[in-house]
Amino acid sequence: MNLIFLGPPGGGKGTQARIAQDQYGLVQIATGDMLRDAVKQGTELGKKAKEYMDAGQLVPDDLIVNMIRERIEAPDCANGFILDGFPRTVEQAKALDRMLDDTGRKLNAVIEIRVPDDELVRRITGRFTCANCGEGYHDEFKKPQKDGVCDKCGGTEFSRREDDNEETVRSRLTAYHEQTAPIIPYYESTGLLRVVDGTKPIEEVTGDLTKILEEVSG
Ligand code: ADP
Ligand code: ADP
Ligand code: ZN
Repeated sequence: MNLIFLGPPGGGKGTQARIAQDQYGLVQIATGDMLRDAVKQGTELGKKAKEYMDAGQLVPDDLIVNMIRERIEAPDCANGFILDGFPRTVEQAKALDRMLDDTGRKLNAVIEIRVPDDELVRRITGRFTCANCGEGYHDEFKKPQKDGVCDKCGGTEFSRREDDNEETVRSRLTAYHEQTAPIIPYYESTGLLRVVDGTKPIEEVTGDLTKILEEVSG
């Protein structure tokens, strides 16, 4: 099963993708995580991407498309993948179609996780992750069960993203509405689009998503 999780920054794509990947044996491909790794390792891609990410702007399409092409051709993706954070422009969506055509694969569904802007600032400014396993948390909405200890791996170190501040969030939301939202009608016209209400609590969103995935798998 090949899926796209689409939605605004902080909408819950990563949270739900991690749950679905475990449930269905899919690989989560998070372009933001891949780019942050590239920045940390100081690769050519990382050097080029950094200034855009710091400013809350999208990284140029050609860089992203090359990065994704390599990733989805890797053997671990043969069973299926969840694209989390890609495509983010119509150009990227078209490039993805070509890549899938070339390798004889198709998308089962594009899931839009819908959340209004005013909720997103709160989501993003409260976000943190386990530095060891990457499990996502939130100051109000998803605290570790034991304060300071990761539920998943027992790790005690957590990190916050540099770009998760109110100023950058505004730019990221503008980028979402201007550059990413236009891909929604693109997928609607192909009949692949499914919408879930991302304002519900995490477990309820997972429940709604599970129903859709049961329908589109197989
Ligand atoms: P995205 O990957 O779309 O940017 P995340 O999955 O990282 O979003 O979620 C952003 C923040 O909001 C995280 O701190 C996460 O724990 C929290 N969160 C995710 N889904 C929900 C939800 N349905 N209700 C409340 N908080 C949520
Ligand atoms: P969020 O979880 O808040 O949606 P991401 O982690 O997906 O954010 O992305 C962080 C940053 O990485 C973006 O603001 C953008 O600069 C860059 N980025 C990630 N994916 C893409 C993409 N598909 N196209 C262009 N830029 C991207
Ligand atoms: Zn952990």
